[in-house]
Amino acid sequence: SKRGGDRSFRFFKPEMSEALARRLRISTLLKSGQILEELDVYYQPVVQSDSGEISGCEALARWHNEELGWISPEEFIGEAERLNLIGEIGELILQRACIQASEWLYRKPDFVINVNVSPLQMADSGFLRVVNNALQLSGLPSKALKLEVTEQLLLSGNDLIQNKLQQLTDKGISLVIDDFGSGYASMNYLCRFPFQALKIDKSFILNMHDDDRTLRLVEATINLAHTLGLAVVAEGVETARHAESLREMQCELLQGYHFARPMPAEQFSRMLDTRESL
Ligand code: C2E
Ligand code: CA
Ligand code: CA
Ligand code: CA
Repeated sequence: SKRGGDRSFRFFKPEMSEALARRLRISTLLKSGQILEELDVYYQPVVQSDSGEISGCEALARWHNEELGWISPEEFIGEAERLNLIGEIGELILQRACIQASEWLYRKPDFVINVNVSPLQMADSGFLRVVNNALQLSGLPSKALKLEVTEQLLLSGNDLIQNKLQQLTDKGISLVIDDFGSGYASMNYLCRFPFQALKIDKSFILNMHDDDRTLRLVEATINLAHTLGLAVVAEGVETARHAESLREMQCELLQGYHFARPMPAEQFSRMLDTRESL
């Protein structure tokens, strides 16, 4: 009921209850399925560091609601996970992203789309079927799809996850460790699981010119990844100087506001049509 949560507000300041009221509304809109009607996917270019050529993009969920305005993924992905609704939402995003990418593949035969997968979504027993469906529905070849998963997934360390990751890899889908360095992944995971690329968390990129040790940490991470045969993506590339340093350190793929912000599909299509590189 609408007033059901009121008791928990008793000891909160008004501005606090406003934030909580928003969270409750988000939760209600998630449960009612409203999100599925309002969800959109934006696309942010991923750029080859040597040529500046667009190699593909990352799909990022966007939700606009008339009453609440823009609701960031940070506000709703975690809540959708708690409510056990991330599977349905993730499936919709994956389908949309694959359909879009298959269109972009016509213009650029080696186009690659990166899609974020929640650890909970990945752990679901139906996940492989969901991926197969999305590929079949869209006609997207598996080599054009990369799945980004955070280190969190690997913490469970269970064999089922390892097996699933192997099956995805066997199908020709690449796996990327997202937010590398920000969580708890031990070096051990890099060897044990079949990842093809590692994405350095943006916090390191954003700090690397203020702090020499961070710069050296980024360089060491890139070298470590290369030693293990992994490609490296840097996110949070906000300045020309970031891009230049990363290029010098042989980081092959770059992503960030310096090149472009996430944008609607139509805008990304126009960008692909009009320019080869960023
Ligand atoms: P992420 O996967 O690490 O995505 C990168 C985030 O960094 C995105 O935030 C992107 O807009 C932002 N970003 C891109 N370039 C720059 C830059 O140069 N500087 C800075 N400061 N930020 C930059 P966004 O779109 O708000 O997404 C936040 C997080 O929400 C994502 O982090 C991801 O963990 C999650 N997320 C977004 N879409 C999905 C989705 O479809 N499924 C799942 N499971 N999670 C998603
Ligand atoms: Ca990501
Ligand atoms: Ca990330
Ligand atoms: Ca993140």
